[in-house]
Amino acid sequence: MNQVALVTGASRGIGRSIACKLAAAGYDVAVNYRVSAKEAEALAAEIIILGRRAVAVQADVSDAAAVSAMVSEVEDKLGPVTLLVNNAGLSWSGLFQDMTYEDWRRLFAVNVDGAYHCIQAVLPRMLAEKEGNIINISSIWGGRGASCEAAYAATKAALEGLTRSLAAELAPSNIRVNAVAPGCVKTDMLDALGAETVASLAAETPMGRIGTAEDVAKVVRFLASADSEFVTGQVITADGGFTL
Ligand code: NAP
Repeated sequence: MNQVALVTGASRGIGRSIACKLAAAGYDVAVNYRVSAKEAEALAAEIIILGRRAVAVQADVSDAAAVSAMVSEVEDKLGPVTLLVNNAGLSWSGLFQDMTYEDWRRLFAVNVDGAYHCIQAVLPRMLAEKEGNIINISSIWGGRGASCEAAYAATKAALEGLTRSLAAELAPSNIRVNAVAPGCVKTDMLDALGAETVASLAAETPMGRIGTAEDVAKVVRFLASADSEFVTGQVITADGGFTL
């Protein structure tokens, strides 16, 4: 069977880098985006030049019907999804008392419900084929929490609980489930914190720098490869030693 990866939020940042690495590793890739159509189409074209099949697919992962339609489109164009990377995510930083319930719900809708919808949509084929791989992109805040990151950390902690539990439930069906917990990574999401904060985060990191999208993509590539075939239910931290 062809190896087909669906990477959510692949138009920019970490997801884009993951899609490139997976294509170079031999996967056909579905590049999901919410609004960045041009970027997603350009990435799909780049992957096709690499010699793999690729398609850009629009869906807001918080919308169950849109996710279901997206997965049907991917199955029609590339075949069944053998690797799902739940990367699409939003962040929210600030004092908890300043967060509205609407902000809280949106964060959970994208970061947690999004993973639910995507897993539910690809799982029937994975179970039927008795083959599958699911990788969730968490964050170091999910495991340890942080001031002004309460809601974001809560969504990532939920993803980590889901990762471990589903790994146990799906292992007999030959479906692995793992997560990657990046530290601070240079993307649009981090840029929102401002240059001064980013510089101080780099200074606090034992390896002396913040991460790149490629640092995370390399860990995903490992979890997507046969080299990790006995690894499931793990949350692998990639943070240059920030949490040590
Ligand atoms: P980013 O640069 O802000 O990119 C976000 C990506 O997610 C974009 O491709 C965006 O698509 C997509 N997206 C957002 N909401 C979506 C939705 N509702 N449905 C579908 N796609 C959606 O973010 P990033 O820094 O690459 O982060 C990627 C993942 O890594 C997130 O889960 C984040 O929590 C996690 N992470 C990031 C860092 C960091 O420091 N950057 C650290 C730890 C963990 P459009 O372009 O179409 O909007």
